[in-house]
Amino acid sequence: MQLIVLGTDGPYPGASKACSGYLLSYGNTKILLDCGSGVLARLQCHQDLNQLSAVVLSHLHYDHISDLYVLRFAVDAARQAGLRSGPLPLYAPPKPADVFSTLEYKDNIALYPIHGGESIEIGDFILSFLPTAHSIPCLAVHVAAAGRQFVYSGDTEYFPALVPFIAKAHLFLCEASYLQHDIIAGKRNHLSALEAANLAREAAVDKLLLTHFAPGVDLEELLTEARSVFPRAQLAREGGKYLV
Ligand SMILES: [Zn+2]
Repeated sequence: MQLIVLGTDGPYPGASKACSGYLLSYGNTKILLDCGSGVLARLQCHQDLNQLSAVVLSHLHYDHISDLYVLRFAVDAARQAGLRSGPLPLYAPPKPADVFSTLEYKDNIALYPIHGGESIEIGDFILSFLPTAHSIPCLAVHVAAAGRQFVYSGDTEYFPALVPFIAKAHLFLCEASYLQHDIIAGKRNHLSALEAANLAREAAVDKLLLTHFAPGVDLEELLTEARSVFPRAQLAREGGKYLV
């Protein structure tokens, strides 16, 4: 499996940056995990949109979905030009219902609700989901292919049930929105770099890649904090390619 990081920022993109978006591929299966602001333009640097197998959204916050609304126009144009035959499969949690209901566009999106505890097959991938602790329903995503395991945290606070879900992942892509002093000061809904690293250590993952950075955050400080408990931690880099 190969992961290409398309965007690392949240809840809005910094200058010349993009919000959450990750292309995961193996063989002919290519899925886009989240599709935040700026992701569509970057995706096309690596991937023919007409060969995209599916899009999976961890949750329906706009920093994770806003470019989906324009990706739909690209699918529509491709179908009108005869370059794509069917709709683009889109998997997303069904709540908030008023946002979920806006995801379809003409007949260009095949929309499937996904839930915690479910397993689905997309091409060569088997995906399973765990509800996280966030301000709206959100799913952590586990992807298995060819004996390799990848986990994406989505957006979440720390909670112990994440550990068995992540256990022994070859690559754990984890949000690290905060430094630990932010958590101590009462910030919620996201992880600190220290919490992300603790999860990686407890779950004995192979590699930890940190993402979901607030523009202006001190990334060196974030990495230092994570490496204090998980020395192999890395910062996800936009455009970076990682072998799972
Ligand atoms: Zn969120």
